Amino acid sequence: MNSRTTENYLKAVYRHSRANSSGNVSLGIIAGDLGVTPGTVTQMMKHLSGRDLVVYESRRGAALTDSGERAALDIIRRHRLIELFLVEVMGLDWADVHDEAEELEHVVSDRLIARMDEMLGHPARDPHGAPIPSASGVLKSGQTRRLAECETGTYRLIQVTKETSGFLEWLSEYKFFPGSIFDLHHIDSMGGTLSLGLSGQNKKIVMSIEAAGSLLVEEAG
Ligand SMILES: [Zn+2]
Repeated sequence: MNSRTTENYLKAVYRHSRANSSGNVSLGIIAGDLGVTPGTVTQMMKHLSGRDLVVYESRRGAALTDSGERAALDIIRRHRLIELFLVEVMGLDWADVHDEAEELEHVVSDRLIARMDEMLGHPARDPHGAPIPSASGVLKSGQTRRLAECETGTYRLIQVTKETSGFLEWLSEYKFFPGSIFDLHHIDSMGGTLSLGLSGQNKKIVMSIEAAGSLLVEEAG
């Protein structure tokens, strides 16, 4: 059983290592993410490498070992199942579950997680559309693109990667959820905005290209 701090470090290394093809994450990035000093991160990396959860060199940064990756995927599975349980079973809004899950993921027993998974019918995705790793640690992320990098066309929203309540509430106002099909009508690269319309609705949505970087989509044309 890992401590809450260990679990948060493993999640942070996992999150950033996926953005880098070498799988190595600089300690400065982890420090910035977790709001701690680089010295604290170095200490923790020594501790985690002693437990065979990361490999770490001060110059190259840190990478997860197989057992570190397995532990990170387990905590991500817990987080995502808890979020879905809070929405589907307890009736909370999708904008309000991330912070709750950040707490609960460290304390809910394996038995309760298995029961939640069963009650939810072994779901593939959380309320924000993020894929849920299997109990054996397999994560199927599928083929998606960032909306910010798309050309005009018809798409389906698959996942919202930014889980702040303000952003999720804003999407809710337009009824723009994972599964929604929409047309990307216009890209104003000088003004830094995109305009799109949900299928079956007249309302136009204008969003910043930066916000569109948090939306993963697939073609639905
Ligand atoms: Zn979350």
